Amino acid sequence: RAKNEGKGSYRFFESAMDAEAQERRRIEIDLHDALAKGELELYFQPLFTLSQNRVTAFEALMRWNHPTRGLVPPVNFIPLAEDTGLIIPIGEWAIREACRIAAQWPEHIRVAVNISPIQFRSPALNGIILNALAESQLAPNRLELEITESLFIENVEATLASLHNLRGLGVRVALDDFGTGYSSLSYLRAFPFDKIKIDRSFIVDLLAHDGATAIIKSITTLAEALGMETTAEGVENIDQLDILRDQGCNQIQGYYFSKPLPLGEVNKLLLGLGEDGQARVAA
Ligand code: C2E
Ligand code: MG
Ligand code: MG
Ligand code: MG
Repeated sequence: RAKNEGKGSYRFFESAMDAEAQERRRIEIDLHDALAKGELELYFQPLFTLSQNRVTAFEALMRWNHPTRGLVPPVNFIPLAEDTGLIIPIGEWAIREACRIAAQWPEHIRVAVNISPIQFRSPALNGIILNALAESQLAPNRLELEITESLFIENVEATLASLHNLRGLGVRVALDDFGTGYSSLSYLRAFPFDKIKIDRSFIVDLLAHDGATAIIKSITTLAEALGMETTAEGVENIDQLDILRDQGCNQIQGYYFSKPLPLGEVNKLLLGLGEDGQARVAA
């Protein structure tokens, strides 16, 4: 009996895997056409600079308006796009779209765009960025590229060379999800990032562990000594905000201030009008 059950659950497992693979394949086929069908959209989440008491940037975050699945979050399609190489055209679209949109914002407001390791290692990236800047007429220092620590796991020399090339275009470079990946600080010395984005996991911990505040303090101290700004990701309440401000963090991003917004909402926010008509941002 036990043997039979074992076999049965193995078969069940096998067909579940099959269904999962088929589902993946279906999403992959749909994703292939998503760009051409205009189903991709950028949402924008404000980055609030504490010293200036205002929004100084927005991070562009991709969404997929699937005809039957609804609004698909990046976690459900970016990895697939990376595996299939589709991240190159999709990522190019995101860069161009972000620049085109940001060029219409007040000049003190930047746009941040996430760059996947696959895009980063593509020889086409520099040209794509140059084109996006040229066609949008966005000042290069208003574009901030967000990369992750995983790029330093291997090929450090090549990564550093590419970073210097990107910097040569005049764009800013931020280190995203800091503290979650490769745990060496040597690359902070090797490349002068404009900004370190402290991963949300450290912010969540702030209210639970005393040690978390010390970690934030050490990151902001290190960043300041290296001439880099710090942004805290995933700030959801005022208690976290107060600690972050006390520990010298420059900027916050998170649901406490605002969720990622569709462009229409961004434009309202920039006009100083929230949904309730209240002034929110002194742009
Ligand atoms: P990320 O770059 O670290 O982006 C921050 C993520 O945290 C976003 O998730 C954002 O919605 C979420 N977030 C912001 N504030 C809060 C908060 O207070 N609480 C919580 N729980 N979450 C918060 P999202 O939009 O689902 O994006 C996930 C990831 O997908 C991004 O992580 C980024 O790595 C990737 N991604 C998004 N758009 C693009 C894109 O255009 N290109 C590439 N290559 N990757 C992208
Ligand atoms: Mg990011
Ligand atoms: Mg991040
Ligand atoms: Mg993160």
